[in-house]
Amino acid sequence: MTLFSSPEFSAHEHISFFHDAATGLRAIVAIHKVGPEGSGGGIRMWPYAREEDALTDALRLSRAMSYKFAMAGIPIGGGKSVIIGDPAKDKTDALMEAFGRAVERIGTRYICGPDVGTSSEDMIAVRRGTPDVRGLPDETGDTSPATGFGVYRAMKAAAARAFGSDELENLTVAVQGTGNVGQALLKHLAKEGARLIVADVNEEAVRSAADRYGAEVVAPDDILFQDVDIVAPCALGAVLDDETIPRLECGVVCGGANNQLAEPRHGAVLHQRNILFIPDYIANAGGAIHATRTGAAFDEEAAMAKVSAIYDTCLRVFDRSDTDGIPVAEAADRIAEEVIATW
Ligand code: NAD
Repeated sequence: MTLFSSPEFSAHEHISFFHDAATGLRAIVAIHKVGPEGSGGGIRMWPYAREEDALTDALRLSRAMSYKFAMAGIPIGGGKSVIIGDPAKDKTDALMEAFGRAVERIGTRYICGPDVGTSSEDMIAVRRGTPDVRGLPDETGDTSPATGFGVYRAMKAAAARAFGSDELENLTVAVQGTGNVGQALLKHLAKEGARLIVADVNEEAVRSAADRYGAEVVAPDDILFQDVDIVAPCALGAVLDDETIPRLECGVVCGGANNQLAEPRHGAVLHQRNILFIPDYIANAGGAIHATRTGAAFDEEAAMAKVSAIYDTCLRVFDRSDTDGIPVAEAADRIAEEVIATW
């Protein structure tokens, strides 16, 4: 396993490896940057086939968190934890508590929270090991409503740029993945009168979404390639690659899934095809924005107003893309990197 020479290593400041013999905990915490107010990012639990896959995920996801916070104007650097294991079989309260104790030993402020494979309820056990955890059931809990709303706002800005109006009524949107974020997005799209096409590998999830939001169902293998205005990846990462991009038949890609580009260069490949791609770290920042505004003075309306401003962030990126004559994805990276350099 390589670290400093890994292509995913991007001047990360701090990487910790943890093991707890009593609970079997094997975890990596990657901190890409420590911002003025510390660093933050979720805890992912996944049965990684190889240890290097876990490290790669931690490096990629923590870097994306820095970009997400930077674009949202939140002075927190990106961090991410990965726990190696199957959440369905290996996750116990004792293991999550041991993870919390590990966070306490990092020595720099890192706020963790739920992510794929961990829930709001799991954070109760993490809290027994560290106070630096958010997203507990009595706090913001599920972040997906805010994430879905943020994707919707980014989509409206993208429609304004690509189609000349931010009205989504009568546009057709193909949503890949009808889980928490997909459904939160569908709610807003249905309300605005968009035509909807959905797919999910989980039959039950896709049926309930189709019934609730009046969507057409297609096979999971076909959803990205529908002849639609907008494609919204809301399931997996790395869905935009050399094989899928040439087959897209949409004007915009804007969704909630993390790390949608298989490699950064695929942003330019989309641009060459005249497809407007909204970087996922902008479109899906709603949950992170909402989660950082917890605490005694939490104000739901103010938090959602901040999520809504993802629309303005997109407009700012479009302006920069025009001024610098570069693709939108590259303009977004450029702005984020300028912000991060000031931390
Ligand atoms: P989820 O597990 O609730 O939903 C994901 C859905 O995708 C599931 O229904 C699953 O069956 C489906 N799926 C998996 N493989 C698929 C495939 N090949 N084709 C079609 N559907 C498939 O997760 P979620 O919370 O909705 O998150 C979705 C994505 O958004 C993830 O990439 C996550 O990292 C990202 N994200 C989520 C949040 C949040 O607040 N929950 C915030 C930022 C980013």
